[in-house]
Amino acid sequence: MAGRAFSRGSGSMKNFVVGLTGGIGSGKTAVSSRFEALGIAVVDADQASRTVVQPGQPALAAIAEHFGKGILAADGGLDRAQLRQRIFADPAERDWLEKLLHPRIAIEIFGGLQAATSPYVLLVSPLLLEARQDTLANRVLVVDVDESTQLARTMTRDANSEQQVRAIMAAQIGRDARLARADDLIRNEGSLADLHAQVDALHARYLALAAEFRTSQPTRAGA
Ligand code: ATP
Repeated sequence: MAGRAFSRGSGSMKNFVVGLTGGIGSGKTAVSSRFEALGIAVVDADQASRTVVQPGQPALAAIAEHFGKGILAADGGLDRAQLRQRIFADPAERDWLEKLLHPRIAIEIFGGLQAATSPYVLLVSPLLLEARQDTLANRVLVVDVDESTQLARTMTRDANSEQQVRAIMAAQIGRDARLARADDLIRNEGSLADLHAQVDALHARYLALAAEFRTSQPTRAGA
């Protein structure tokens, strides 16, 4: 593990930010629910990615212009399933879409992180590393499970085939590469009680780091 305290993070970010990531079905939601129960604000990158393509948003108009109006559902919203198919079939289209959306999603996330009033804030993102959203975080927390647990839990939850889950795993950063970017690690092969105990220990640590972060910030005139 890299063991950095504040090596990441935007210079203009006022809050201490912990970026949480992990593969599909690794336990991100279970972990973030526990942080939330401890009073920590959670910003969800998936939610931000849906917000930026809501009707009326400039990104939705750009997508309709690029792919044609047929990419819109009857209610004027984005036909996500169709868009997924189009970009899955064509890496150049996927690149185009990512260039359009990633900066907008980052701005949306930034707003949520700045608005948080808890002692520190958790940014949950399945694509924290892939979409470079870790640049918004002071620390990267990875929740990790072995592949057999990951497959079993995801297949039970989503009634998906092993092949479908493996296809999603293949589109995400590999387990070793993700672990290499972690400042902190939660292993989630045990019970939920086990998971909660690990979160509680990290929470105590993050409270201390966040307090240190605040005192290290230059005081701004009028702030
Ligand atoms: P995704 O990337 O698909 O959103 P996720 O990383 O948010 O998934 P969760 O939804 O938190 O993962 O967990 C996957 C499934 O495994 C869920 O059904 C959850 O209830 C279950 N689960 C998570 N942790 C544990 C645990 N320690 N013991 C038993 N079940 C667990």
